[in-house]
Order: sequence, then structure tokens, then C-alpha cells
Amino acid sequence: MNPRHQELINAAKPLVRNLILGRSDHDAASVASAIRSSTGAIYTGVCIHLSCGLGFCAEHAAAAEMIKAGETQIESIVAVAEDRILTPCGRCREFLAQIDPRNANAMVILGDDRAVRLVDLLPHHWLQLTPLI
Ligand SMILES: [Zn+2]
Repeated sequence: MNPRHQELINAAKPLVRNLILGRSDHDAASVASAIRSSTGAIYTGVCIHLSCGLGFCAEHAAAAEMIKAGETQIESIVAVAEDRILTPCGRCREFLAQIDPRNANAMVILGDDRAVRLVDLLPHHWLQLTPLI
């Protein structure tokens, strides 16, 4: 077991609560995320999902915490639900990559001993395309 992966998983996992927000089809904190920044600081966040489509992913909330501290560069990130590790959705992949171009090399934790670079989840990224001429 990679201790650095486990440390991030352990930071996120206690935040998973499956709170109901007023209606049974609204939930919060069913997914939690933890980011280790390039300075080694750990930031966490949880999702909020409303039935009308409003809300945000846990990765967004963790990134907002990092931004509040004046940091933008992610060393590694994980998102966890009650019983599993999740890969970032397409929107989060793009969001994290655009916060800081160096985040292309951020490690996305897929398990205790597995991780991939964010750029590997964004093949043929539109910002990296070669211009015509
Ligand atoms: Zn997402």
C-alpha cells in the first residue's frame, strides 16, 4: 500500500456522509475528495448534487479550498465514495487541468497502489492541439 495514496484516501474518506438536503433526491457529501498540493498541503472537499442539476463535484470543492490558500498546483488527488475510489468526471478533468497547466502531471489516485497522470485521462487535449500553419 502506497502510504502517500493512503494518506489522501484517509483525509477524504471520513468526509463521506450522504447527507440529504431537504429532498430525498438531493445529496451532499456522497463523494469526498482530497488534494495534495505541490507544497504538500492537503485540501479536502465534498460534492453537492441537487435534482435540478445544480451542484458541484467533490474535486471542485477541494480545488476551491486549495485556491483559498493561494495554491494552484496539484501533486495528487483522490475522490472517494462510501465503498470505492472514483476517477474524476470529464468536467473535473478539464477543470483541474485549466486551474494550472502544471496539473497535467498531477497524479490521480485510482487505488492503494495505482495512479495515473491527469494528462493521461485527457488524451488529445484541445489546449495542446497543434495550430494550423
Ligand atoms: Zn466531477
